[in-house]
Amino acid sequence: MYKIVLMGRPNVGKSTLFNRLIRSNRAITHDRAGITRDRMEGTVKSKFHRPFVLIDTGGITLDSHSQVAEGPEGIRGFEKEILRQAEEAMQEACAICLVVDGRDGLMPFDEHIAAYIRKLGKPVLLIVNKVDGMEKEELMCSDFHVLGFPLVAVSAEHGNQIRYLESLMVDLL
Ligand code: GDP
Ligand code: MG
Repeated sequence: MYKIVLMGRPNVGKSTLFNRLIRSNRAITHDRAGITRDRMEGTVKSKFHRPFVLIDTGGITLDSHSQVAEGPEGIRGFEKEILRQAEEAMQEACAICLVVDGRDGLMPFDEHIAAYIRKLGKPVLLIVNKVDGMEKEELMCSDFHVLGFPLVAVSAEHGNQIRYLESLMVDLL
């Protein structure tokens, strides 16, 4: 089955989005009861599109961050570790969704991840998350156009634009 991976800095909302995509489809298909919050891989199913596997990356939490950051490599060591852990998933995925935080704006690590992803040559969709009120959508997205990926603004927490996001994800395959 086709695989799409969610990639991005810690705390941008990847897991919230993952759970939202799995849960919303569970409501339709009634067959995802075994999926728990911590599960990293799940099938997104809907009567509107063919099913695909979604992978959530970023097992590192901000707690382990503080440990790694104490080392000589500091924040860079932490960033490298995130990329290393996600590397396998990104290699095996057919397409990559880079999730960013629309409230933070473009951060240096977003750019590092984008550069890494670009080299893989796979289809990419940029998901600007935490756009909770759509009236600010344009402003919150304007920073990210420089990355050069097609983008969509969503709110994983409130569920805004999730159906539309799903259709864009399927179009990547
Ligand atoms: P991850 O580290 O990328 O997996 O991020 P999480 O899914 O754990 O979310 C990090 C934090 O952002 C949590 O406190 C979420 O509740 C919050 N969050 C996720 N999505 C949204 C959103 O759409 N809007 C807002 N305001 N907060 C969000
Ligand atoms: Mg997470």
